[in-house]
Amino acid sequence: MDDCIIIGGGPAGLTAAIYLSRYHLKIRLFDCGSSRAALIPCTHNHAGYPQGISGLDLLAAMRAQAEKYGTVREAAKVTSLRSIEGGFAARIGEREVRARSVLLATGVINHRPPMPDALHDAALANGQIRYCPVCDGYEVTDKRVAVYGTGEHGAREALFIRSFTRDVTLIAPDRHDLPPEQLAQLTAADIALVDGPARDWAIDGEQLALSTAAGHLAFDSLYPALGSHIRSELAVEAGARADASGCLEVDDHQRTSLPALFAAGDVAKGLDQISHAMGEAGVAATTIRNMLNAEAPLWR
Ligand SMILES: Cc1cc2nc3c(=O)[nH]c(=O)nc-3n(C[C@H](O)[C@H](O)[C@H](O)COP(=O)(O)OP(=O)(O)OC[C@H]3O[C@@H](n4cnc5c(N)ncnc54)[C@H](O)[C@@H]3O)c2cc1C
Repeated sequence: MDDCIIIGGGPAGLTAAIYLSRYHLKIRLFDCGSSRAALIPCTHNHAGYPQGISGLDLLAAMRAQAEKYGTVREAAKVTSLRSIEGGFAARIGEREVRARSVLLATGVINHRPPMPDALHDAALANGQIRYCPVCDGYEVTDKRVAVYGTGEHGAREALFIRSFTRDVTLIAPDRHDLPPEQLAQLTAADIALVDGPARDWAIDGEQLALSTAAGHLAFDSLYPALGSHIRSELAVEAGARADASGCLEVDDHQRTSLPALFAAGDVAKGLDQISHAMGEAGVAATTIRNMLNAEAPLWR
């Protein structure tokens, strides 16, 4: 039986792999190749890279670092996870792999606006679509920005972006549905409210253009605020607790409610950021090491 199975090869899973491999533990990492970090054209808020670094380059460097210390990494999807005597069994295709502990680092998937995939990806690559104002609000300083969403989430995102630019428009996917308190906050912040549905998405020179109930509009950047799918199903099926949104509940050592099952990164509740994912993974990995050592000393 292995010491730990890591499910997910984004910043959280790879950080844990580096730590656990350097603790001389026998681990396996499975990754189905859809890290959110791979979508980052160039991050400018990740400390240590004053010129910025692309998500793909960061992931490649982390993979090289994990492999240098002996991490066994497989490009494969884990399709089920169950508790067994002394640990867990993970299913990968026809195979079952067993380990004394599991770290789930499967992340989330952002819901996308209703636009053609090719257009979405082109707009994402050049900063006309952005998903994370915490990450890149600085880059839209004094630009013309739209947030695509409504309700509490849409209003929160629009108000957050207001500290980067005075030109913010909140576009509803259909019609706005805003509680009076948020409507008052948006009005006080001078945020324009536009009803959808949004159609005719197009890249128009430096801007992203779309038709709305208020006519044809164009923005330097648009932030979808449509929520995410939290990839916590494997842990929930195995018996771990998640909150209403699907985020796994963890304690301050990244332990889920199921013994020996840990979670780190976006799949656990917290700030969806690379640095946070890495920090949680370091805590999880060290707790896993200490737990295994308490069961049987890891002396060489
Ligand atoms: C466009 C964009 C820009 C961003 N910019 C920044 C930024 O500038 N700075 C910043 O700090 N953050 C940024 N973020 C957020 C950052 O990407 C995430 O917080 C970070 O990637 C979370 O890491 P993670 O390891 O938790 O999840 P992820 O990076 O999403 O990795 C999860 C991994 O788990 C794998 N996986 C899922 N299910 C399975 C399964 N069943 N079996 C095997 N593998 C599985 C996936 O393939 C994936 O590789 C950005 C996000 C986006 C979308």
